Amino acid sequence: MQISTTPSSSPVSDERLAEILANPGFGNHFTDHMLTVEWTPADGWHAARIEPYAPLSIDPAAAVLHYAQETFEGMKAYRHDDGSIWSFRPEENAKRMVRSSQRLALPELPVEDFVACVDALVEADRRWVPEGGGEKSLYVRPFMFASEVFLGVRPAQHVTFMVIASPAGAYFKGGVKPVTLWLTEEYTRAGRGGMGAAKTGGNYASSLVAQQEAIAQGCDQVVFLDAQEGEYVEELGGMNLYFVHRDGRVVTPETGTILEGITRASIIELLGKMGHQVEERKFSIQEWKDGVTSGEITEIFACGTAAVVTPVGELKWDGGSAPAAAAVEADDALWTRVRSQLVDVQFGRAEDSFGWMHRIC
Ligand SMILES: *Cc1c(COP(=O)(O)O)cnc(C)c1O
Repeated sequence: MQISTTPSSSPVSDERLAEILANPGFGNHFTDHMLTVEWTPADGWHAARIEPYAPLSIDPAAAVLHYAQETFEGMKAYRHDDGSIWSFRPEENAKRMVRSSQRLALPELPVEDFVACVDALVEADRRWVPEGGGEKSLYVRPFMFASEVFLGVRPAQHVTFMVIASPAGAYFKGGVKPVTLWLTEEYTRAGRGGMGAAKTGGNYASSLVAQQEAIAQGCDQVVFLDAQEGEYVEELGGMNLYFVHRDGRVVTPETGTILEGITRASIIELLGKMGHQVEERKFSIQEWKDGVTSGEITEIFACGTAAVVTPVGELKWDGGSAPAAAAVEADDALWTRVRSQLVDVQFGRAEDSFGWMHRIC
């Protein structure tokens, strides 16, 4: 794929950039450039370009604004101590975007083109990748949407793929505290045959009202159950779950309707290497409630690209609650060891024995 570049004539000043990178937050600031590629049935993927970051001019009848035909990805670029910049398993993001796009009837962007686009934008905006100490990184957001101007309901014949990037601070500022979860018994995230396994905006749109309910109940995040029986644990709005048992076994839900996280898959491999037996299976909400009460479950944690690994505390629902698992705040908790192993590989402080890292520049 040929990518042309028009450098920004007004990049953010070094002083302002230093200010932003000192305290980037999440998703607030965007780099000097953006990458765009167009697709039509006649020309395939074409017109790949890096241009100054700017608002889009979009026709009010663009299909995505009406029917939400859209997919996205979330990944990070990490700066190592020697100044080099790396991404983590980018082909996995590329392959997942292909699967998501198949489900949303969007065209497939080849894996090597996806990786080349991400690399090109990160390299163009390399001064925006923060120093790695303190877990800062550059969050990269590839996304694809139906840009055809047409109100009929069918797969769009003009599609746009873009990559933007935003510096991200350490997820946990004042030390890690277990998150409190709200169990929604009214809303579900994904049904059989639906889009649960695709990374698409619609899944987030449908989760917001449940998340709002969680906040109103004094909780940080919401837990979704399966849509069919309302019995099996799926995931949080944007993170996968793990249940650590007294004998060292770890269970992570597998229902066919969860989003299979790249962090989730990586942690399954890491846990195996650490000698833990990992079970991917249906896990009922009753097993959760009983397990934390009896002490059979010693830790629960959630994982995803943004927070890496987050410990889970109390679970609340309409009319009841279950306590945090007993060992979640222990100094040598499994989740803390998994978290630091993963973060150390990402920032080049530990050997990359799985070959997960991809050098960008
Ligand atoms: C992106 C996402 C995750 C986490 O996936 P990672 O690849 O680990 O970042 C989990 N659940 C949902 C619904 C997601 O969209």
